[in-house]
Amino acid sequence: MTYDANNIFAKILRGEIPSHKIYEDEHTLAFMDVMPQVDGHCLVVPKVGSRNLLDAELSTLTPLMATVQKVARAAKAAFKADGLQIRQYNEPAAGQTVFHLHFHIMPMNEGQALRGHSGKMADHGVLAKHAEMIRKSL
Ligand code: AMP
Repeated sequence: MTYDANNIFAKILRGEIPSHKIYEDEHTLAFMDVMPQVDGHCLVVPKVGSRNLLDAELSTLTPLMATVQKVARAAKAAFKADGLQIRQYNEPAAGQTVFHLHFHIMPMNEGQALRGHSGKMADHGVLAKHAEMIRKSL
């Protein structure tokens, strides 16, 4: 399977479609998931294109995981969460729907249920507020 640069996250990276940005550096970008499974659900992507974890270069993963950790700590603090889940799907059979490598970060509280994967679009005002909360905790 090859990488297709017309995917939605590549468009976000090129600034062709908007996103609620949380953090950006030379190698990575973090932004809110528009269909959050929990409040504070956000995504971290590398700027270099790979379809998923299976075809990614090691040099892509090192800065990517640094940003995953940084944003995970901030999201947990911002939402005063008890813990958090990190999820990453590879290929449609495993639930992948956007084919640009990304990690999901989901702050979780004790006993909390997840909403559906790729479910309901959140209000943009709420997403903007949540992005701001995580940014302030970076
Ligand atoms: P998956 O490929 O299954 O790991 O999931 C892709 C994720 O991207 C889902 O959680 C979607 O809600 C999310 N998503 C889809 N389009 C956008 C978008 N334009 N901005 C932010 N998140 C998105």
